[in-house]
Amino acid sequence: MRPWSYSRLSCYESCPLQYQYRYVEALPSPRPSSAAASRGSDIHELCEAYLKDELKMYPPEIQKVSSHAMMLKTKKAIPEQRLAVNDKWEPAEWDDKDVYMRGIIDVIYTEDGVVHVQDWKTGQIYDSHKDQLSSYVAIAAAHHPEAKEYRVRAIYIDQGVVSVPVTTTSDRVKPIRLLLDGRIQAAEADTIFPTRSGSACKWCDYSRKFNGPCSF
Ligand code: SF4
Repeated sequence: MRPWSYSRLSCYESCPLQYQYRYVEALPSPRPSSAAASRGSDIHELCEAYLKDELKMYPPEIQKVSSHAMMLKTKKAIPEQRLAVNDKWEPAEWDDKDVYMRGIIDVIYTEDGVVHVQDWKTGQIYDSHKDQLSSYVAIAAAHHPEAKEYRVRAIYIDQGVVSVPVTTTSDRVKPIRLLLDGRIQAAEADTIFPTRSGSACKWCDYSRKFNGPCSF
């Protein structure tokens, strides 16, 4: 089950059976790749290229958040940083054998003792994005223990909105990690992987709608 990532954990929590298909049995998805998913990854690549200075101008696809993107460039923000931790929440290398949790941070930079963690988002605004960013704080803090605060924002490309910053002081990182540990322990103790049909079925790769093995 390890290494965990936010998407892996949220897959488990939305439906353990879906998790079993994807991560335990590693069943290939019978669902054709969607235009929205391809667009999302293309835009992420463009944003990465822009922050790496491989593009002179911001890509037109992010016009609505261009001023924010330009600000990130002036801060020399690092794109797509891969960070991992072991189960003591200590820094680990991405491919270490004992990696507990990993995350690819879309945007990260440090300024005045504050570590800024941001995530490009295409599509709709979901409440779960706050939880995802909080998990990134738990991981990033291991690699930046000197920081006094961690500040997260989601950059909603389609809406032209950058979310209000949420700040976690260094003393509040431990409770976030304890909550994640509890969620991970619950997932790791599961040997049944029960069906949890519901809203997740609509997008599930393994649903009957996509000719998958699940009867929902
Ligand atoms: S279709 Fe629904 S119940 Fe079946 S695996 Fe997917 S999310 Fe779970």
